[in-house]
Amino acid sequence: MAADDLVITDLEGNKLSGRRNPSSELAMHLLIYRRRPDINAVCHAHPPVATGYASAGLALNKAILAELVLSLGCIPVARYGTPGTPELTDAIEPLVQSYDAILMANHGVVTYGADLLSAFFRMETTEHFALVALVTELLGKQVLLSGGDVEKLLAARARYGGQTAAPTTSECPVTSDASETSDASGAERITLTRRELESLIDEAIQKERSRLQRFCNLD
Ligand SMILES: [Zn+2]
Repeated sequence: MAADDLVITDLEGNKLSGRRNPSSELAMHLLIYRRRPDINAVCHAHPPVATGYASAGLALNKAILAELVLSLGCIPVARYGTPGTPELTDAIEPLVQSYDAILMANHGVVTYGADLLSAFFRMETTEHFALVALVTELLGKQVLLSGGDVEKLLAARARYGGQTAAPTTSECPVTSDASETSDASGAERITLTRRELESLIDEAIQKERSRLQRFCNLD
């Protein structure tokens, strides 16, 4: 792409200059500029790992990297909307105010910032974090930071004049405190040793056997 491929529009999307037509995702860009007066650049791409998470409907919201808690906080997934239609802007609209990076289900990623480099680096950070998260999934183990660790990071972020967005809630970021009793969906989890599991299965088989025996005896 060269400089003269760029198209300039106003905030209503009317073309002001350029020999090409604006992107079919113009409405998404305009929505972000309208909702976030602090934003001067929007970056939209389809990086493979983060887009994989988007297509799996998985948010990047676990406290596994200190750097991410400090920078983007959490990266939510917006529900699917047909590209280039109001469905897509409706899907991301509720998230634009609170986050600086959004996964778009079955599509890609959008990030934004005060200038072009911040928006671009947020896209890079999102893909990097998705890759690290994927590696922890492949290794079969994720060690989450605790709520206390996250609080310390957030205090540091405030001290260094951190980001405008990136709110924290019980689901963002998910810490080790939350994961001990529940997963991201809030479902309860328990951990059993192999022996405990085997004895539970044995017990169930025994019960079923004696039930069948009683049934046969009656017959
Ligand atoms: Zn796209």
